[in-house]
Formats: sequence, C-alpha cells, structure tokens
Amino acid sequence: MKYIVILIIVLYCSVNTFAQLNPQSKQITQKFFPEIETLENTTPALQKNKGFTDYDDLMLFLNNLVEQHPENIKLNFIGKSQKGYQIPLVLLATQNTKEKIKVWMQGGLHGNEPASTEGMLYLLDKLLNDSKYTYLLDDIDLAIVPMANIDGYLKQDRYAANGLDLNRDQTKLMAPESVSLKQAFSDFNPEIGLDFHEYRPYRKDFTQLSDFGITSLFDAMFLYSGNLNVPENIRTLTDTLFVENARRILDKNELKHHDYISTGKYGGEIHFNQGSTNA
Ligand SMILES: [Zn+2]
Repeated sequence: MKYIVILIIVLYCSVNTFAQLNPQSKQITQKFFPEIETLENTTPALQKNKGFTDYDDLMLFLNNLVEQHPENIKLNFIGKSQKGYQIPLVLLATQNTKEKIKVWMQGGLHGNEPASTEGMLYLLDKLLNDSKYTYLLDDIDLAIVPMANIDGYLKQDRYAANGLDLNRDQTKLMAPESVSLKQAFSDFNPEIGLDFHEYRPYRKDFTQLSDFGITSLFDAMFLYSGNLNVPENIRTLTDTLFVENARRILDKNELKHHDYISTGKYGGEIHFNQGSTNA
C-alpha cells in the first residue's frame, strides 16, 4: 500500500531564539531550560549573537555541506519566491541499493517561526557529520526544504510577499511558492511528510492558570491528519505508528509532548481547541 502521512510538528521556540533574548528572559530560559546551553553551535543562527539565518547564510551553509559530502547530498531548486529567491531543496541519501522509506521535511512555511528552519539545518548537520546519526540515511531517502517561505522568513513575517498564509494555501495554490512545493512534493512522492512549525511558550490566556508566565508545558506538539476527510486507516496509522514512535522517543528523553492545542476566549472563559480538525 502506498500511503502518505502528513504530520505537522510544532517545536518549542526557545532553541533558536535563545541568543536573541534580553538578559531577564535569558535568566528565565536558563533556569527552566538549562540544556539549551549544550546545543552545538552548528547552524548559522546559533553561531550569531543577533538575528536569524538569512538567505546568504542558508546558501553558504548548504553549499558547504555539498562540498563536504558530495556523495550523500544534492542541492536542487524547486522554484522562486515571489521576490525572486531560488527555493532550495536538499536531497539526502546513501549509495546503497536497499529499498528506502521516502521522507519529506519542510520548515519555515511560516516565516516568523525560525526554529523550524534552524531545526532542519541542525538535523542536516547531524545526519551528515555526527556518526551517532549518519546510519539513518541507510534506510531513508530524505528531501528537505529548510526555508519554504523565504520572503516571509527574511522579514520574520508569517505570510508570503502577497500576504497569503502558505499553510492555508495547500488546496487552492494561489501563491507561486505553494505550486512549487506541491510540484516538488509530488515529484519526490514521499511516504511520509513532515512540516515543522514553532510556537511561543508565552500565551496570554495561560497566565491565568498558574503563577508563572511561561506557559506551555510541551517540548513538542503534534498536529496530524485529524480531518475526517482523511481516510480512517491513514489517521489511525499516523497516530499508532508514526506519532506513537515519536512519542516514545520523546518520553525516553524526558521531553513533554501533546496533541496540538490552542486557546481562545469565549464569553469570558478560556477554551482549549484541538488543532487539525478543519478542512
Ligand atoms: Zn506555523
């Protein structure tokens, strides 16, 4: 059976934004997330004192990897952003003849969620340069679009240059970036697709639930195939196989996770909404 599973993974934002914090926020972050200090500074934004990965940083980082690992990595471009930036697609594989699972990953579809792009770059470095992880490429063919919405990303803005939310444009394909992504996704024809996002730990509504302002308990939240238009067997498989495996690994590493929830206020009450149920 050929199946495609789309997972949206939402990452807690402190990883990437740590360097950007003011001293007081930095203290709070250090207190509650001391492990962030142990991140290796392997990606452009983690190497900077200020600012995020810009387009030149991104291309330099990717071209360096291609130079160091020409046998394992290929750099393609799938189209242009509305402002004319070529959108890079990184293809990773080892040269064995084993049948592999094809996995698609993308980050930066929302331009103001930089942990998603930086996470992709961190992963690329790990898969190519860290012997603890390189074996993974024996079993998967991986396609990564690290910065899907380049115009938005460069302004740290959620939307594409024409004001569209690209994460709400996957059916109508009104933005050229959406067409390029869809075409490249179909050409690659993956079994699994992952789309990385980022959320703020601080949410106004949550402050009423505890004494402390930083709110979200979770290191990762999953938003996956909840819409009833998705065939039930795919929804079940996603939950019981792919997400379950990810949950288990997060548990093992003492990281907290949950299905994606957001809050809204209705008649003075806070309601928790489960994500991924609309079309
Ligand atoms: Zn997002």
